[in-house]
Parts: sequence; C-alpha cells; structure tokens
Amino acid sequence: MDECIFCKIIKGDLPAKVLYKDEQVTAFHDINPVAPTHILLIPNKHIASINEIAPEDEALFGYMMTSVKKIAELTGVEKSGYRLIANTGPDANQEVFHIHFHVIGGQRMRHPMG
Ligand code: 5GP
Ligand code: ZN
Repeated sequence: MDECIFCKIIKGDLPAKVLYKDEQVTAFHDINPVAPTHILLIPNKHIASINEIAPEDEALFGYMMTSVKKIAELTGVEKSGYRLIANTGPDANQEVFHIHFHVIGGQRMRHPMG
C-alpha cells in the first residue's frame, strides 16, 4: 500500500519512534499521545481494519496479542495496567486504515468508556 502512512513507517520511509519491530509486527509511539504511554502496535501486513481480517490471518492476530504483552513489559505498564483499543470504522473515528492497536497507560483511565 504505497500511500498508507503506517506501511511507510514499517518500511522506514516515514520517521517514527519505533519501540519494537520484528518480522510480523511493528510498535511505535503515537505522534499525538493521549497518556504517558501511548504505543501503536501494527501488523507489518497491510490490513485496513478488523473487518478485513481473513481466516489466514488468525495466527498473526494471536501473535499481535502476545506482542501487546511485550509492549506492556517494555513500557513498564504491565502491572499498573493499560487499555487496548482498536478503533474500527466511522463510529469509532478510525483515522488510519491500517489495523493498529493503541496500547495506552501510565495514568489512571477515565471510566466508563464510550
Ligand atoms: P485511529 O483514530 O485511526 O484509531 O488512530 C490513529 C492514530 O495514529 C492517532 O492516535 C494518531 O495520533 C496516530 N498517527 C497518525 N499519523 C501518525 C504518524 O505519522 N506517526 C505516528 N507515530 N502516529 C500517527
Ligand atoms: Zn498499510
């Protein structure tokens, strides 16, 4: 996806503060953080949203979940807690159409959500 900004970050064509990267996933700091810890975890494969996940992607998304734990450990929020958000579609205000998990923490979250 030539025009996708997150694909550009994966390729290194767009600068980002990368926290973690391997063959399947990339994690980097959100450019506009809403909390002291705000990491975006993305699959290196371009998939627009959760709605486009295919059965062959199931192993990848299992790996995404263990990667969330890795991100929580790397940023030191695994015990204090964090919130995992995947905005999907218009009602959720999804802005970037390359699946991303927001890992947000480092402060007490507001509740309830929505
Ligand atoms: P969404 O609303 O789609 O769930 O979230 C998109 C997120 O991507 C936003 O939190 C926004 O701040 C972040 N973002 C947008 N463009 C860039 C960028 O070029 N670099 C980084 N690091 N984050 C970005
Ligand atoms: Zn992409």
